[in-house]
Amino acid sequence: MKFVIVVPCYNEEAVLPETTFQLSRVLDGLLERNAIDHGMILYVDDGSKDGTWSLIRRYAEENSYVEGLKLAHNVGHQHALWAGLEWASAHADACVSIDADLQDDVDAISAMVDYYNKGMDIVYGVRRERKTDTFFKKHTALAFYRLMRGLGGDIVYNHADFRLMSRRTLQALVSFPERNLFLRGMVSSLGFPSALVYYDRKERFAGESKYPLKKMISFALDGITSFSVRPLRYITYLGLFFMLIAILAIFYGLCSYAEGSALPGWTSLLVSLWFIGGAILLACGIIGEYVGKIYKEVKQRPRYFIEQTTERLK
Ligand code: UDP
Ligand code: MG
Repeated sequence: MKFVIVVPCYNEEAVLPETTFQLSRVLDGLLERNAIDHGMILYVDDGSKDGTWSLIRRYAEENSYVEGLKLAHNVGHQHALWAGLEWASAHADACVSIDADLQDDVDAISAMVDYYNKGMDIVYGVRRERKTDTFFKKHTALAFYRLMRGLGGDIVYNHADFRLMSRRTLQALVSFPERNLFLRGMVSSLGFPSALVYYDRKERFAGESKYPLKKMISFALDGITSFSVRPLRYITYLGLFFMLIAILAIFYGLCSYAEGSALPGWTSLLVSLWFIGGAILLACGIIGEYVGKIYKEVKQRPRYFIEQTTERLK
């Protein structure tokens, strides 16, 4: 079986030597016990601005496992991963996607391959505990998973993009035409036989996170809006709710008028004006999110361009 480890890299020159070393060790182990017939590490350089690509090229010469694709510009983690998965769907029997920074436990790969050899199509790497994450990240992440589940997204708790996928899973995945990628949701919606492998997530080996808070928020919003249309329905509920309140208020106003105790009414007027104004803006914003998504989808732009590959991939 041909096995590929896909690793998206953006400005990762600080971690690549160690990543290459550790992933090679994992592949050595798998080959030794005949769990795979052929192994490859496919680095996808997501338009890095540091020496990532020259490192990848050098490792490709020195190390027979290493290959690389260089994307023409930075398209973001999900699309870079997609580029690697698309390549793997055409050339491999199974592939594991993993981040370059060694936060995910490379030793879990071996257990994933064993599940594959027992007939599983998807093996999710699931974090056992989030010891190394900050309090803030831990709680925002949990809230995000809950929200996604609540909105009907079928996603696996504490699973990021560390997973094994079989060839047919990859082929099913790359047949999705959408441009707004939320891979972990897309994969779990495929429904092929799957298993979980638990691991402890570590600190980033070197370098710093490429996901600052701003990117995290926009990733969460993308996740929700590309997976669920329920926020649209909630707007309707919200609208109905406000209408009901308005009717009650009118009734109350008429009654107090009949009693002759009508108030000057400034307070209630202003409060409801602001409140409803806010609600309408919020609703517009949510609709705008979806309209933006639709716009992006109808354009059907290519997800990435490959600028260069390592020698053997040519
Ligand atoms: N990454 C990428 N393109 C980007 C940002 C990140 O390919 O625009 C890669 C990065 O090199 C790493 C993975 O995506 O392999 C996850 O990024 P990071 O570790 O910085 O995110 P975090 O673990 O902090 O959420
Ligand atoms: Mg990381």
